[in-house]
Amino acid sequence: MKKVMIDPGHGGSDPGAVGNGLREKDLVLTIAKGIEAELAAYQVEVKLTRTTDRIVSLTDRSRQANNWGADLFVSIHINAGGGTGFETFIHPTDGARLKDMQKTVHQAIMKQLNVRDRGQKTANFAVLRQSSMPAILTESLFIDHPADALQLKNKSIIEAIVAGHREGIVRALQLPLKHRLSVHEQLYRVIVDGKQIGAYKEPKNAAKQVETYFGRAKSIQLERI
Ligand SMILES: [Zn+2]
Repeated sequence: MKKVMIDPGHGGSDPGAVGNGLREKDLVLTIAKGIEAELAAYQVEVKLTRTTDRIVSLTDRSRQANNWGADLFVSIHINAGGGTGFETFIHPTDGARLKDMQKTVHQAIMKQLNVRDRGQKTANFAVLRQSSMPAILTESLFIDHPADALQLKNKSIIEAIVAGHREGIVRALQLPLKHRLSVHEQLYRVIVDGKQIGAYKEPKNAAKQVETYFGRAKSIQLERI
């Protein structure tokens, strides 16, 4: 099964970016936990580099992912510094495969948001450099921009950011849903005169029932469920 390491930036004594009554470390933890919850519907293992408000070094974040053997590392951040909108980063030495994954994740998130697309960028960030698997860093809106901050205070916008990340990760790793019925789990239901008389794993057992009631019933329905 594929493994995804979600990395909520900052934490503990490092609040990250601060502005308009918001702290980056709180927002990214909420977003990371939301992504983890949504990915529970898929065939994937998910871990967070931190699940509480505590400080974790950049090296430790990558080390956790490397030791675990993660297939994808997604670092969650909120921007600051006077801009507006959404952007993603991979490491400058990353190749075409990771550029494709960045594009997939980037576009899935942008599709959920009505903000400026600042582009798919590269940067020599420690977590991107030190993680040995594909690593992507997202910067969702600017905490110090009044309109962006207003969006970050809106629960439905946070949910949209979560949904975008989930969709991007699902597509980038082509994760199948859990609980998809396999051929062996399919059932054949026999309904005679509007009443179900049985559900059978073996088609021949369902057919036997159809035969039994044939000629005696007004209607016989055979359904695959
Ligand atoms: Zn940050």
